[in-house]
Formats: sequence, structure tokens, C-alpha cells
Amino acid sequence: MPFSLPDLPYAHDALAAHGMSAETLEFHHDKHHKAYVVNGNKAIEGTPWADKSLEEIIKGTYDPNTVAQNGIFNNISQLWNHNQFWEMMSPGVSEMPSELEKALVESFGSVAKFMDEFKAAGAGQFGSGWAWLVKDTDGGLKVTKTENGVNPLCFGQTALLGCDVWEHSYYIDFRNARPDYLSNFLDNLVNWENVASRL
Ligand code: FE
Repeated sequence: MPFSLPDLPYAHDALAAHGMSAETLEFHHDKHHKAYVVNGNKAIEGTPWADKSLEEIIKGTYDPNTVAQNGIFNNISQLWNHNQFWEMMSPGVSEMPSELEKALVESFGSVAKFMDEFKAAGAGQFGSGWAWLVKDTDGGLKVTKTENGVNPLCFGQTALLGCDVWEHSYYIDFRNARPDYLSNFLDNLVNWENVASRL
């Protein structure tokens, strides 16, 4: 069964008042995410991965010994990453559930310290990639950054929050100001209830 492109969980212009324009979502979801779906399906066709889940393909094709990765991994992981990314944002103001706040304070000292670390990870990722809040294998929360399509599944971690720092995610709205895009993401776009549901 080929994978399909999920609809955005909100209208294309729903995040515009929160700093992510309809034009960004038209390119990012309708073109970039769609391309990962089309190319991912093409890459797995006729291979033993064709009837596996996204998660199984990602864990099974990730190669820890190379940065380049292979076509199956790159497209399928980016397909999964974007599926999560849209769900992690919301057009409504989202209050942080208390269990998430407590977990962040336990691991980082404060919510503000977590946010500083997350922004630094995203700004410090050289080239394309992602910033993540993960639940690590020991149960603690951790901020990480990954290159290209690599994601927490590759390391046995649970992705609680991810921010796409590929230029296609911010160049229309923020031009080269990636730190401003990251600040706006945390302040105005994150669906904290979705993040908490992943704990
Ligand atoms: Fe992207």
C-alpha cells in the first residue's frame, strides 16, 4: 500500500496570523512534503520495504556511519517528520499542560531554559535539519538536533516536538533569520497539547 500525503490539520492560511503564511504552507506541504511521499513510494516499490510501516522503514534503513543516507531513508523519514510537524502546530493559542511543564522543569530546570536550548539547537544546526525535544531511552527529556531527514526514531527516542530548520520552512516568512523563525515557532505555533500527548 503506497503512502499518501495527509491533509494539513488546518487551513493553509490558518497559521498566517501566527507567523507562518499560506504561501509557506502551499510550498512546504503541497510541494515539498508531497515530493517526499511520491519519491518515497517510488524508492520502496518492489523492495522488501514496500509493505512495512514508516517507522519500520526509518529504523531499518538508517545508517549511523554516513551523513548522506540512502534514498529510501531520506524520503521516508522526511515523510514521517512532516506528518508529525503539522500536528505539532496549532492555529489556536495552546496552553502547556501541567504534566509537560513539570517534565520540562525536571529535565531542564525551567521551561525558559528548555526553550533557549531548543532555539540554540535549531540555530546551531549547520545546513538542513531539525531541532527536537525527545524523550530519551532513560525516560528523561533532551534537546537534540539532526541533519537532513534524520529523526529521533533512529536513536530509539520518542519525538515530542520537532522544528523543521530546512530553509523551505522559513525563507518565505523570515528570509535568513532562522533564530526569529525558531522563537516564533515556540512562542506562537506549537500545539503543546500535542507535545504532551506524546510523553
Ligand atoms: Fe520541511
